[in-house]
Amino acid sequence: MGVLPKIKNSAYARPVVVLLGANQNNPEFQIDKAIALLQATCGTVVRRSSLFRSSPWGYTEQADFLNQAVLLLTPLPPLALLQRMQGIEQRMGRIREIPLGPRIIDLDILAYGQKWMQHPRLEIPHRHLAQRRFALLPFAEIWRNWKHPALDSDVETLLKKCTDTGKVSLWRNS
Ligand code: AMP
Repeated sequence: MGVLPKIKNSAYARPVVVLLGANQNNPEFQIDKAIALLQATCGTVVRRSSLFRSSPWGYTEQADFLNQAVLLLTPLPPLALLQRMQGIEQRMGRIREIPLGPRIIDLDILAYGQKWMQHPRLEIPHRHLAQRRFALLPFAEIWRNWKHPALDSDVETLLKKCTDTGKVSLWRNS
């Protein structure tokens, strides 16, 4: 799916790719719940990737993660969207104990249209996007011809070039 869907009355909506991840308390349930909250508070979820199972990145002494990407059409500017997404994480009981450690839910903005932005609290596209297969694989399913504004590569090319050796396998089809 490369072409963006046309949505009525969406003059101010921006297409945003959000990556969800979880490895605690029934991760599949937590991801579905977070998508429902995104839909209720941030905009319209128009596409969902498959669910992938991935080995943990950075801090390896923990359970595998489930990851899914969604395409969200949102009227919110980037920092307001980040704030709402962090509100969802808090509401779902996320506790930040170990950096990169176990999580009930994690929400990241992978891309906000073709925007490039460097802010102390928000980097767009996500700073690790090109290094993480568990982010690139679901991203490519929902917006295959998106082009990275700084690397001048589309997401499929980034995936081909990615040297991440972490395991990522299909868990549930979209
Ligand atoms: P995390 O542990 O993945 O929830 O991320 C921790 C911090 O990353 C947050 O406090 C955000 O301010 C920051 N951050 C920077 N860029 C992004 C992004 N693209 N999406 C989500 N968080 C981001």
